[in-house]
Amino acid sequence: MQKLKGTEDILPQNSYLWQYVEDVARDVFERYHFSEIRTPLIESFDLFSRSVGDTTDIVSKEMYEFYDKGDRHIALRPEGTASVVRAFVENKLFGPEFPKPLKLYYVGPMFRYERPQAGRSRQFHQIGMEVFGSENPATDVEGIALAWDFFNELGLKNLTIHLNSLGTNEERGTYREALIQYFEPHFDQLSEDSKRRLHDNPLRVLDSKDQGDQTLVKNAPMILDYLGEESRKHFEEVQSMLQMLDIPFKVDPSIVRGLDYYQHTIFEIIVNDDTIGAQSTVCGGGRYDGLVEQIGGPSTPGFGFGLGIERLLILLTEQQVELPEDEGVDVFVTVMGEEGNHLAQEIVQYARQHDLIADRDFLGRSMKSQYKTADKYQADIVITIGSNEVEERVVTLKSQQNKQNKQLEVSVDELAKNFFGIYRQLTADTSVIDEFFKGE
Ligand code: ATP
Ligand code: MG
Repeated sequence: MQKLKGTEDILPQNSYLWQYVEDVARDVFERYHFSEIRTPLIESFDLFSRSVGDTTDIVSKEMYEFYDKGDRHIALRPEGTASVVRAFVENKLFGPEFPKPLKLYYVGPMFRYERPQAGRSRQFHQIGMEVFGSENPATDVEGIALAWDFFNELGLKNLTIHLNSLGTNEERGTYREALIQYFEPHFDQLSEDSKRRLHDNPLRVLDSKDQGDQTLVKNAPMILDYLGEESRKHFEEVQSMLQMLDIPFKVDPSIVRGLDYYQHTIFEIIVNDDTIGAQSTVCGGGRYDGLVEQIGGPSTPGFGFGLGIERLLILLTEQQVELPEDEGVDVFVTVMGEEGNHLAQEIVQYARQHDLIADRDFLGRSMKSQYKTADKYQADIVITIGSNEVEERVVTLKSQQNKQNKQLEVSVDELAKNFFGIYRQLTADTSVIDEFFKGE
């Protein structure tokens, strides 16, 4: 049997990297005072067609959808925002007992039927956030700053924030018409994709990767010229706050985002390395002031972003960012002969009860290969159990650190009581203290 195309197993030799990235994200979210929300992987198809939009690639081409045994039209979630908004409305998280604005984040798999390539898969993982109930441009800034902090903390380089505003629905409507009018005389020069998009979703023509389209786009009207007074003011405040915080950005009118629900500020964080080609956008998001209402809730402004973990991990590897290594074990127990089996298990359990990472040999291998395993696991301490140890219930703890060959004889009862203390005694780095006394 083989995994489905566009899916990946996250294997034990890699899962610690995923955990690391997720841990850093959770830390950053905590500092920004966000709480986690977990929504189902399946939702009704309508949720996405109504929020993300029927004319988007996501809904029209990429959604995994099916009818269940009860004949319900179901979709695997292609993105996080629609589900979080649904949960916000359904659970009345706008009620007086909840914080305002409500700041939520999520981590988990999303599904899109796309052509798999590096950084583009059919099941992929996003870290994302949504803020409900604040119109303040500081909320947009906080969201962008959060993503920026996260990437910086991981040590990613060559990232640029691209910023744009789509204005209100109305302003965007007028702009839409202007775009159609501009492109129509050049219809024959447009790519097939853009011809198809022109009347459904003309903004998408702007971010077409096609060379011919790009040339036409250069002289196309710009959304920023269609913004009203208030939209302009909002956008200017976002920019001036980012400047105040020394967060670099570039106003880029070609950023339109694929989804229908955005208004006002939108942004993408793009990596300038050309190694992942068309997959260079690692994070995208923006403001969606009409969406909660559209899903049946009270009029509530929102802001959110999503970022792809797979793309992030590719960049971390390509940019050779230094990452924490697997720490290995604190204690490894080697076992000579069958009679040591019970005592070995007793000892690793004591170690674990004292918060130490412990493992043992289970396979009765030669001492040489058991020691090799201890080395591979980077054990700080090795304990060997033979018939003597079983009889006396006294064992020898050998430090493997710094070739100091320190060792201690300890009764098993003592380990049961004070394993951690004994571990510290044996592994504490005394060189600093030694150095200090040498100077005396
Ligand atoms: P793209 O233009 O690359 O298709 P998108 O605009 O469809 O991206 P969003 O819907 O904004 O992407 O999702 C946010 C982030 O999720 C992207 O910036 C990317 O990092 C990640 N992402 C989106 N689709 C995929 C996918 N199929 N495989 C892996 N990561 C993805
Ligand atoms: Mg896409």
